Amino acid sequence: MHIVVHELEEPLQIDREFKGEGLGLAQVGAHLAAPVRLTATVTRSNKDVAIEGDIHTVMGLTCSRCLKVFMNQISQRIDLHYEPLPVTEGGQVLTYDDMDISYYTEDIIDVDQMLVEQLELAVPMKPVCAGDCQGLCDVCGVDLNVETCRCAREVVDDRLQPLIHIKKKLTPGN
Ligand SMILES: [Zn+2]
Ligand SMILES: [Zn+2]
Repeated sequence: MHIVVHELEEPLQIDREFKGEGLGLAQVGAHLAAPVRLTATVTRSNKDVAIEGDIHTVMGLTCSRCLKVFMNQISQRIDLHYEPLPVTEGGQVLTYDDMDISYYTEDIIDVDQMLVEQLELAVPMKPVCAGDCQGLCDVCGVDLNVETCRCAREVVDDRLQPLIHIKKKLTPGN
């Protein structure tokens, strides 16, 4: 979906579903498990455009501990401000890193691209299927949420690691 900026006379109400295939979400470990519903109001004042609303969908994420795919409800509030991308006299496009402002070019706001960016922001860095997920055994790889194993795992608090080295040095025969 494209918004042609100069055609925005009145505030535009969007209430639409976008199919996942059309969006091409590239995030590793995440896929869309439902269409993306966008409800938003787009308003223009001179050349500035504001998009306010909500994005809802369901995403399949891979648990960073047990590697199972689990479903995660995504509800992302959006409050975006667009300005035309500044161009120098020579026609060169300047790039900006201002996170609070998005830029559009050639009078067009690409809503699909905006959705992809917002969904990528909604994916946690280290998704977990449940707060108490036990993960996989480092030694044999069984899922510790469903099985126990007999592997000797030394679970050591990182903060204690230096003390263990000292203890080993001090222990005769080590
Ligand atoms: Zn898990
Ligand atoms: Zn094991």
